[in-house]
Amino acid sequence: MAHHLGPMQTLPSPMRRFSENEAVDYCIVGVGSAGGILVQRLARAGFRVVALEAGPFWDTEKDWVSDEKGSHELYWNDLRITGGTHPLALGANNSGKGVGGGSVHWAAFAPRFHPSDFRVHSEDGVGVDWPMSYWDLKPYYELLEREIPVAGPAWFPWGDPHGHPYGPHPLGGVGAVLVRGCTKLGIRSVAGGPVAILSASHGDRPHCIYRGFCLQGCKVGAKASTLITHVPDAIARGGEIRAHSMASRISLREDGRVNGVVYIDREGKEHFQKARAVIVAGYAIESPRLLLNSACPGHRRGLANSSGTVGKYLMAQAGNVVAGRFEELIRLYKAPPAHALSEEFYETDSRRGFARGFAVQTVGPLPVAFAKQMVAAMGAWGWGMRRVMMDYNHWATIGVLGEILPWEDNRVELAEEKDQHGLQVAKVTFNLHDNDKKLIEFGKNRAMEIMWAAGAKQVVQESRFAHLVGGVRMGSDPSLSVVDKFGRTYDVPNLFVCDGSILPTQGSANPGLTIQALAARTADYLIKQGDAIFHSNRRDLTEPGIRYDLSPPYTRFKGNPRIA
Ligand SMILES: Cc1cc2nc3c(=O)[nH]c(=O)nc-3n(C[C@H](O)[C@H](O)[C@H](O)COP(=O)(O)OP(=O)(O)OC[C@H]3O[C@@H](n4cnc5c(N)ncnc54)[C@H](O)[C@@H]3O)c2cc1C
Ligand code: SF4
Repeated sequence: MAHHLGPMQTLPSPMRRFSENEAVDYCIVGVGSAGGILVQRLARAGFRVVALEAGPFWDTEKDWVSDEKGSHELYWNDLRITGGTHPLALGANNSGKGVGGGSVHWAAFAPRFHPSDFRVHSEDGVGVDWPMSYWDLKPYYELLEREIPVAGPAWFPWGDPHGHPYGPHPLGGVGAVLVRGCTKLGIRSVAGGPVAILSASHGDRPHCIYRGFCLQGCKVGAKASTLITHVPDAIARGGEIRAHSMASRISLREDGRVNGVVYIDREGKEHFQKARAVIVAGYAIESPRLLLNSACPGHRRGLANSSGTVGKYLMAQAGNVVAGRFEELIRLYKAPPAHALSEEFYETDSRRGFARGFAVQTVGPLPVAFAKQMVAAMGAWGWGMRRVMMDYNHWATIGVLGEILPWEDNRVELAEEKDQHGLQVAKVTFNLHDNDKKLIEFGKNRAMEIMWAAGAKQVVQESRFAHLVGGVRMGSDPSLSVVDKFGRTYDVPNLFVCDGSILPTQGSANPGLTIQALAARTADYLIKQGDAIFHSNRRDLTEPGIRYDLSPPYTRFKGNPRIA
């Protein structure tokens, strides 16, 4: 029976199967935003690749529903412990579980990081510089914007100004509020993207029909996820994705090189997949957890952890939501949540009294999420909650997306508690520091001013966080970081980490596009290095050169693109 990926696309079958006893070239752990790109690129280049995914291989027609309550299985809901002065909400607020990972439930906002994000320490004296520049990543941003593809304004004025391959979406009710409020206050804003949602048909994917279920996976197939953008090509090119396979430990040979991954299937049976190299792509919490759980002789503090930084410098973005009630109908569900923003406050402004900045973006909670926000924002409960929900269609919500700096005490460690597989779970500690608190206060007040300026009759706000990254940071100093600029661990030459966990800082742009661009670049590096990855310890840090020929089909446009 066909395996559906949206109403028009089916998975090429049958999928190639590798034997566990055959040492494949690459074993990838996690098929999310980064893992989906890696398996596609490496399979296309002719490598033998097995990707282990803890969750299911979604059939979008059978498994997904356009309903908030019925979509909770998209998230990583396994036990995790949270703590610190500002404990992070986990579960639905962070990673996905299943092929596509977090790209299945992301809102698909797809802005680039700014050039300054790569030089935070040099420019502002805080955080740390990346071991690479924006200009190294720029060609990959441009390529990924075409591959997934991104719709947005013809001119995006912030950071490195650029256009987008697909035209902008029409303005929804919340976008109109954001643009109106910003315009009244003289703040520049853009509408219609940048968002990885189709504004015109693209290959075998239809355009958006504006029904607002983006965070529930998008059964329509208009919103990009690696499940529908890259995984089909990975399978067609001979890659294997093994679903319901939870990696429990990376195995090390006596010569200090990895030789495979131990994993547990859905029946609880343990397996071992032999591999000549391993790439961990399990997300900001699960990647450090797997390295820590892989401690072994010679790596007592965790695999690849001679620096002691595995798990440290975890970051979340400030994600305060400001809600405004209007007399007129807004209907915040009737558009993709992600469709208008301002990055006017992105860069450091010394007059504000803190370093770095924030973005202001539309958000579009469906009723259950909105009700939860109203509990937090105004203590709505009982009859009060019913009264608020009767006005659901009159509320608009905009979010602050603020840069929280990398701090050593914000970290992932192993807890005593164990999960259903008997593996120690992650304990996440999160504390706000002085700069973070000042930034959040300023950003929250600006977003409230925008809401009032747009004509709201009532304005409330909820403090929350979004988008976890860091924990396995990349850097040029092996004593302060875990991986180099291509994701290669400093301690184990054939072990790589490539996902959001390697980000040294996070800017105030949503991280998904950057994570995917980094994955495409790491894949190009691995392909260029060829067999040397499997036997040589030499660290070649020259840029690989971009491989345009490895893009999935339809990258060169079909449908209704704007820029040729
Ligand atoms: C509600 C919501 C909305 C968001 N909206 C946006 C947005 O608009 N724009 C944006 O840029 N970002 C957004 N994000 C963030 C974005 O989804 C993540 O930053 C991104 O998906 C992280 O990519 P990743 O590759 O690091 O991890 P993931 O995409 O989470 O992939 C990790 C994968 O690894 C698997 N895995 C983990 N551990 C193991 C193991 N031990 N064995 C086997 N498999 C394993 C997981 O099941 C998962 O599939 C949003 C996030 C949330 C929660
Ligand atoms: S609004 Fe568009 S992208 Fe979002 S779920 Fe609906 S069709 Fe998909």
